[in-house]
Amino acid sequence: MIYLDNAATVKPSKNTVALAERILTEDFFNPSALYYPAIELKGEIENTRRDIADILKCKASEIYFTSCATESNNWVFSCGIKNKRGNVVISEGEHPSVYEAALNLKSKGVDVRVIPLTVNGTIDETKLCEAVDDNTALVSVIHVSNETGIVNQIEKLAAKVKNKNKNTFFHSDGVQAFCKVPLNLSGGNIDFYSISAHKIGGIKGAGALYLKSGVNISPLLYGGGQENRMRSGTENVLSVLSFATAIKDFRKPQDFKKVFDYAFDVLSMIPDSQINGLRTANSGYIISLGLKGIKAEVLQHLLCDKGIMIGLGSACSSKNNRNRTLESMRVNREFVEGNVRLSFSYENTFEEVKNAIGTISDTVGYLRSKIHG
Ligand code: PLP
Repeated sequence: MIYLDNAATVKPSKNTVALAERILTEDFFNPSALYYPAIELKGEIENTRRDIADILKCKASEIYFTSCATESNNWVFSCGIKNKRGNVVISEGEHPSVYEAALNLKSKGVDVRVIPLTVNGTIDETKLCEAVDDNTALVSVIHVSNETGIVNQIEKLAAKVKNKNKNTFFHSDGVQAFCKVPLNLSGGNIDFYSISAHKIGGIKGAGALYLKSGVNISPLLYGGGQENRMRSGTENVLSVLSFATAIKDFRKPQDFKKVFDYAFDVLSMIPDSQINGLRTANSGYIISLGLKGIKAEVLQHLLCDKGIMIGLGSACSSKNNRNRTLESMRVNREFVEGNVRLSFSYENTFEEVKNAIGTISDTVGYLRSKIHG
């Protein structure tokens, strides 16, 4: 099998698999217990918090574990705007876990302003700045698009937003950026940042929210007081610790850029195709490929039969046959219908990517020959 749907989830890394064996058989304790092995486990959770903080350049005490990034994003939208007053600004390219949370606020009467993307795939910066006013409570801009891999310069955007209204909270969904795109949260303009373990080689069931110290937000869950009383509930120790093993494995020496550049060059040569978004703004892990005259689902199934797994974009867009991100980028409808997403991990070798692209090219040719006779 050649797995090229790493934006959906990543195969657990080698150290993560070893961790699972240990936690499930030996170190299964509740980390709130007061006997020695449980205290050790609690210490490992704190070390993991530090590992994440080192990458994001923030304090360990600013990282709160959740069950997934969807929960982190929803926490910000449900508790992050005081008394539900003021307007909220998001981009048209947000993941459903932000977009739907914002629509929920809208249904409760909150003024939600949705900013379009440019043809390059980044948020329209001018329109974003115009939308922020004295009453803006929260701005949320995705860091790396899960559809196109395009990077928004969130540190710069957050500075601009704070310049217009210093009281506006700035959130970013960093799920597809964490470990891949450098970020320095110590700048202080970003108030919330969401990440997820299973997108970097950890295990499903752990996310985290960076919550800048001093920012006043209500706890998400009340109970036993875990996560500094902000998110009660017994920690999902295995998934939380898998953040650390995945981070460790991610740091291994790699030459992945060469593989990605090869994929980009060769895929762009498929006739009647286009890669969406500006190449120089790509994170280097996701390619959104539009193929004229092809039904993306049919291509996906044929490739699956040949042992190649690719994605179709977010589950939300594949369900309702719309793709908010690509539509906002004004991608032609015929390319949207034939749009597939190839997403990579550092474990994808040059050989397997080359083989997969060869098969994709051949299969596209075969499907077009069936249509055109
Ligand atoms: N945000 C982005 C950009 C994503 O790609 C995803 C996963 O698809 C999520 C949020 C949701 O993450 P989780 O699966 O941890 O809830």
